[in-house]
Parts: sequence; C-alpha cells; structure tokens
Amino acid sequence: MHLKSIELYGFKSFANKMVFKFEKGITAIVGPNGSGKSNVADAVRWVLGEQSAKQLRGSKMQDVIFAGTEARKPLGYCQVDLTIDNHDMKIPISYSEVTVSRRVYRSGESEYFINGTNCRMRDVLELFMDTGIGQEGYSIIGQGQIEKILSNKPEERRALFDEAVGIVKFKKRKESAEKK
Ligand code: ATP
Ligand code: MG
Repeated sequence: MHLKSIELYGFKSFANKMVFKFEKGITAIVGPNGSGKSNVADAVRWVLGEQSAKQLRGSKMQDVIFAGTEARKPLGYCQVDLTIDNHDMKIPISYSEVTVSRRVYRSGESEYFINGTNCRMRDVLELFMDTGIGQEGYSIIGQGQIEKILSNKPEERRALFDEAVGIVKFKKRKESAEKK
C-alpha cells in the first residue's frame, strides 16, 4: 500500500489543477514559507474526512476553497483525489488501486467518492479504519499528535494502539450498535 498521487483542484492556494506523483520511498516537499507545503498535508487530511475546519487551519469548511487573489476570481468548489496503490489489499476493497475523492461547494455541501462512485463519508472512514491511513491514523503526524503519543493520558495512547492493531472498526460498530 502506498500513496501514488494527490490531485488538487481549487484546494486552498492550488487554484489550478495540480498533481503530485509519489514514487516508492521517501518524498520531501520543500519550498519557501507560504508556498503551500502544509496545504498539501491539509488536503490529505481533508479528503480522508477531516470535519474540523480548525484542524485545517480555517474557521469554516468552505475556507479550503481557493479564495481568489487580486488577479483571479475565487472558485465555487474544490476537489481532492487521493490515489493509493492497493496491490497488497491492505485496504479492504477488491481493487488494486483506490482513489478517494472529496468535493466541497460554497454552500458547504461535501461529496465523497470511492473510485468515482458517490459514497458517504462513513464509507471513506470505514475503508481506512485500521489501515493507519485515516484522519485519526498515524500516517499524518501533526504537532498535537506527538504530544498525544507522549502524553500521560492512557486513553489517548490506547487509541493509537487500537488503530495500529486494527480493532477500531469493531469498536465503532459496537458503539453504533449500542446506540440503536
Ligand atoms: P511554511 O513554510 O510557513 O509552513 P507552507 O509552505 O506550509 O509555509 P502553507 O501554510 O501551506 O505554506 O500555505 C499558506 C498559503 O496558502 C498562504 O499564502 C495562504 O494565503 C494560502 N491559502 C490558504 N487558504 C487559501 C484559500 N482558501 N485560498 C487561497 N489561498 C489560500
Ligand atoms: Mg507549513
């Protein structure tokens, strides 16, 4: 399982369609301050279902849509497509390549797609649960998360272990069954 590409359209500072392709191994993204490096990480988090505008360094969800510049009008929606190689079938879906997409309009409405088929946010969350990739996973390690790992709060450390050993899915299902 490895991240093959990220396609951005209208996401934050990326007004033009932009494609990042990743080979196996390590990729470093470098650039001057404010050039959009963190926006790329935000895009990954966002397409995986991030619901908190604050986590994405905005105040409302629509803040991820290109807001315009003096020379360029704001856009009406944005979209991010994340393509992952799934030859090892770590993602529980019978495709060797998985593309997850999210689109948001100025109205605030979000749409999610798995390999081009419209789906619910929940489907995206379930797909990545226990793979370590989800927005709650440990594949994107932000500043706050380092603190969480080092934290003395056992329940916060426990959540990371649950994800790593692959039992989050079952816990969530149990929780939602108990609510019904
Ligand atoms: P640093 O090295 O300082 O961490 P960076 O490369 O991580 O910088 P980012 O934080 O990714 O930079 O990018 C910030 C830029 O993105 C700012 O110039 C900001 O104006 C722009 N930006 C953020 N949201 C939008 C938006 N909705 N529309 C247009 N531009 C945006
Ligand atoms: Mg940054």
